[in-house]
Amino acid sequence: MAAAGAPIVAAWSSQAGAADPNRKLGFALCGLGSLSTGQIAPAFQATQHCRLAGIITGTPAKAAAWKAKYNIPDKNIYNYETMVRMGDNPDIDVVYVVTPNALHAENAIKAAQAGKHVLSEKPMEVSVEKCQKMIDACRAANRMLAIGYRNRFEPHTMECIRLAREKVFGPVKTIEAAFGFILGDPNQWRVKHALSGGGALMDVGIYALQTARYISGGEPVEVSATETKTDLVRFKEVDETMAFQLKFPDGVTASCRTSFNSGSLNSYTVQAEKGWFGLAPAYNYGGVQGRRSDGKPIDAPLVNQFAAEMDDFSQCILGNKPTIVPGEEGLRDVKIMMAIYEAAKSGKPVKLT
Ligand code: NAD
Repeated sequence: MAAAGAPIVAAWSSQAGAADPNRKLGFALCGLGSLSTGQIAPAFQATQHCRLAGIITGTPAKAAAWKAKYNIPDKNIYNYETMVRMGDNPDIDVVYVVTPNALHAENAIKAAQAGKHVLSEKPMEVSVEKCQKMIDACRAANRMLAIGYRNRFEPHTMECIRLAREKVFGPVKTIEAAFGFILGDPNQWRVKHALSGGGALMDVGIYALQTARYISGGEPVEVSATETKTDLVRFKEVDETMAFQLKFPDGVTASCRTSFNSGSLNSYTVQAEKGWFGLAPAYNYGGVQGRRSDGKPIDAPLVNQFAAEMDDFSQCILGNKPTIVPGEEGLRDVKIMMAIYEAAKSGKPVKLT
């Protein structure tokens, strides 16, 4: 199911997938920055249905280093221009787009047009229009599109979703969620609006927004927001700290906070009619921990979230099943984040349709 409602994605038709459901799908990583290097490439070792088959990079030195480290053949090494020729390369089934946010659509569309399935990092893109173009391109090419919401495959998170859905503590009333960190390099693309589409909200506030949506199981009908800035130079183009509130149709409210200037925001608490539960830390790559008001543990395994996310996508492709994190899910978040920016700018609540 999509975070908040009925599945909306058509599966794709694959004869190759149906023929051999156990084969490992070949992934090409597009953009070899810190996430690809530090998390995604090592995660392949923990997958069952995926292998790192290729790379797409604009930097020849990175191509050489990755070729040596991961034994990638020359024919599977592309740059952002040559990737359009991937269509004749059966080693690559999926392109995982891990570039700055405003380059997701461009690379995803090239990949889809070359006949590859697409996994795009979050946030999906910097505007609703660009998200829609990604969806349209993948649909036209009959390829699957998923967004890298790794938390959706994190077992403590999945247990919290179960507690909410099964009303173990009664109906959910309020959700408080926060994620922030202290931004390092002051010149990185995250503070350049043209490449990021926004600051803390787009980068990590999206996790709190996701929590509000997957825990409530609904779609917000109204948002309000306040932005605060302490460093007017570093955060000239993007939001440094944002507090935002969401109202859901069934009366559930969410109060969220995100910041590029706080290392202590990394948790959520769900208040239900007869108790509470939540995670702290909630959004780390590892070490997620849960608590519940009745003292029982939220006892779930710690997994490699990127491996779980990639394996799930491969299984969706091989089994011709819809993903729980389709492009439409990424588009919904971008639409809500745009409304949050509008609310912060106007100082007034914004209704969502
Ligand atoms: P990064 O800056 O470390 O890497 C970005 C890569 O894109 C670099 O290799 C860079 O060379 C390349 N690139 C291509 N064209 C570029 C251009 N015009 N300008 C700048 N860089 C360009 O960033 P990152 O932290 O790896 O983030 C990449 C994506 O992954 C972002 O969309 C980010 O939101 C997402 N991300 C997700 C998670 C997660 O937990 N799912 C964590 C971190 C980042």
